[in-house]
Amino acid sequence: MKHVDDSLIKLLLDIKTTEVDIDTILNKTKSLNRLSLEETAKLLSVKDAKNLQKIFDAASYVKNTIYGKRVVMFVPLYISNYCSNSCLYCGFAANNKVTIRKKLTFEEIKKQTEILLKKGHRRILMVAGEIANSKENLDYYVGAVKAIYSADYNGNKIKRVNINVAPMDGKSFKTLKMSGIGTYQIFQETYHEETYRKLHIAGVKSDPDNRLDAIDNAFKAGIDDVGIGPLLGLYNPYFEVLAMMMHIEYLEKTYGVGPHTISVPRIEPAQGSAYASNPDYKISDEDFKKIVAVLRLSVPYTGIIISTRETSQLRDELVNLGVSQISAESKVSPGGYDDKFSNNDNFEKQFNLNDQRTLDEIIKSLLSQGYIPSFCAACYRKNRTGETFMNLAKPGQIKNMCDINALVTLKEYLEDFASPEVKKIGYALIERSKAKLDKASLKTLDRFFKDIDDGLRDRYI
Ligand code: SAM
Ligand code: SF4
Repeated sequence: MKHVDDSLIKLLLDIKTTEVDIDTILNKTKSLNRLSLEETAKLLSVKDAKNLQKIFDAASYVKNTIYGKRVVMFVPLYISNYCSNSCLYCGFAANNKVTIRKKLTFEEIKKQTEILLKKGHRRILMVAGEIANSKENLDYYVGAVKAIYSADYNGNKIKRVNINVAPMDGKSFKTLKMSGIGTYQIFQETYHEETYRKLHIAGVKSDPDNRLDAIDNAFKAGIDDVGIGPLLGLYNPYFEVLAMMMHIEYLEKTYGVGPHTISVPRIEPAQGSAYASNPDYKISDEDFKKIVAVLRLSVPYTGIIISTRETSQLRDELVNLGVSQISAESKVSPGGYDDKFSNNDNFEKQFNLNDQRTLDEIIKSLLSQGYIPSFCAACYRKNRTGETFMNLAKPGQIKNMCDINALVTLKEYLEDFASPEVKKIGYALIERSKAKLDKASLKTLDRFFKDIDDGLRDRYI
């Protein structure tokens, strides 16, 4: 597959590591520099509990040093489950006859968004199946993004729409960018070509290069926030991590910046897919935690996303090991946020979910562990994206801004949406967090807080 050197990965998968090696690499991670392929392979090869714990501790240090206690919150919005591809693991596959198909109208998309706004959500990941006609796809996506941004609940609006949709050409990406999308996300699923071809049996997606090229097309069209990831469970997960690192090296070399985010979806059972219930490479929770921790250490400044595919307990642990963005209260069927549709949810959804908590319950859990849920989208709105974002993030300049913005969005959530219990825990955490801010940041924060008390919303720097 393009950008992936299989024979080098084969050598790296057999690499031998000593405890001294591990300690040297983990020592290097304290300087927050990116790791080489060889160093990443050595960390992935660790199996014993003592060295694994050292990796977890190092990942936790890097996470807290770069991201502090912030965790960005988002919610997926599925707009259509029609699909012309046949990915053997997916509930939306064209050859999956049990799935009930639905494509939301723009009015329905707006209504779904209003439901999400009412719960306190501010960041949406728009998701759709792929239809063969790319012009039809583009018009629908652009209309859907507009519908999402047009939704309003008491003056509250969606701040950022990221999208996870089919590959497009450069011209279409330019049009999409103009519609105001944030990150363009697309998962390669597997970087192992033979496995890829075995599992993607029909449709445009059966060509693996078409997917890889989508990232290039997006960059060339000026979308510099891209999200990538493997679907874990299809092939050897260590191979996938190393291959993704090669893909990242290629992007850094070609465009001066790597992906904005990495997602690590693990395969879940899906209606009508025998493969999804019995994937070739089932990954244990321990291995999964190691993969997330090693990713955190390998690319310290790249966001890591975990969805509600994972259980609440595991998600709590992963946030400490490096995850910087999580979804909440997700439905993975078009129209799923509307009670009148949810009877059919089983036959319209893409796969099973393991964290069914409400947004308020998830926020309570994060706050209780000292994490600050953030609904901030300031960087994107102030054009701090791609290389500009990385240039601010690497010397640590962005941290103060992020802390202020996260606390402001938290206070807005507590005022407008939180249950009394969450409000109490949230304000206690805000007070503790304020004590850690420098004088200038505190002054800015107090100004924004006063604005919120005066009824103003959506303040950010
Ligand atoms: N149709 C577009 C595509 O395939 O890129 C975008 C949306 S697709 C609904 C989003 C992602 O869901 C896929 O890229 C795949 O990684 C993931 N997915 C599909 N089936 C899954 C399953 N059974 N369990 C977990 N994730 C799954
Ligand atoms: Fe369609 Fe995407 Fe599902 Fe494949 S993963 S069947 S392209 S929705």
